[in-house]
Amino acid sequence: MIITLKKGSKQKDIKAVTDKIKVFGYKPHISKGKDFTIIGMIGEYAEKYKEAFEAMDTVEHVSEIQKPYKLASREFKKENTIVRISRDIEIGGKRIHVIAGPCAIEDKELMINTAKIVKSAGSTILRGGAYKPRSSPYAFQGLGEKGLEYIKNAGAKIHMPTVSEAMTVEQVGLVSKYCSIVQIGARNVQNYDLLKAAGKQKKPVLLKRGMATTIKELLLSAEYILSQGNYNVILCERGIRTFETATRFTMDLNAVPVLKKLSHLPVVLDPSHGIGIREHVGTMAKACVAAGADGIIIEVHPQPELALSDGPQSLLPDQFKNLMKELDLVAKAVGRELLY
Ligand code: PEP
Ligand code: MN
Repeated sequence: MIITLKKGSKQKDIKAVTDKIKVFGYKPHISKGKDFTIIGMIGEYAEKYKEAFEAMDTVEHVSEIQKPYKLASREFKKENTIVRISRDIEIGGKRIHVIAGPCAIEDKELMINTAKIVKSAGSTILRGGAYKPRSSPYAFQGLGEKGLEYIKNAGAKIHMPTVSEAMTVEQVGLVSKYCSIVQIGARNVQNYDLLKAAGKQKKPVLLKRGMATTIKELLLSAEYILSQGNYNVILCERGIRTFETATRFTMDLNAVPVLKKLSHLPVVLDPSHGIGIREHVGTMAKACVAAGADGIIIEVHPQPELALSDGPQSLLPDQFKNLMKELDLVAKAVGRELLY
């Protein structure tokens, strides 16, 4: 249920409503728009208290949210959510951010070198996995906390915020301590304890769609994080599984306009995992920008043939540099900004 306060409502009016929500045993969720403040009272049987709020002088109207996901829906919040990552980087505004780096953090020097490469090409957020969800238990599993130290060190050295994946509840705390953004990977999109843990910490969360997750399920997973009080959620389309075997996954570009219509949350796309073939990553990245992505994730490695994970889809430094210029042109063509 959403309670919209009258225009120009004061802090004390907001408090009166949130206090009442708490008395009824629910958690208030406040969203301050340009003109109106909206307060969400989400949970089973919330509607039965509708009249108690309609009777308040400061309340403009009370309505029910029809969708199963509530806080993630456009009904709850009309304006696009802008997720602040650092002082000058925000995702969901006019500027499209390119998140780049190796698939896995492999060693200290490589992390710094790759960070320098992607930053000089115009990337604004550094990626790298310390905990790797590999299909085979014999494949490189990541450096763990040491890896987080390396990415933090690289990010600090060249002034770039960082993102890394957490696969367990304990790792959420560690990634949150070392990195600017906590990533929940495709394989864990419906790991509800993990989602709740990500919702309880303060750093923004990059939530990747699972390879067999519907858009509705993705938004319900986002709802798990939002419902814990962390409103800084970035959705990520990274390809789904279809009957097609010529590519690693099938990039669901349809998801972009659909997610944008259903939700106020920013949408980032990952063409590297989406297609899985270096030669075609650039083409799909341009398509992602054209489709309306708020950000793009690109895996880059100085020597992909030696990469410990996802070498075949990692771009070479020069390829990445050229691609960034092309992405900038596409961004301009669709009324966005990319390079400064
Ligand atoms: C990744 O980004 O490193 C990753 C493992 O991606 P996904 O969860 O989308 O497979
Ligand atoms: Mn990868």
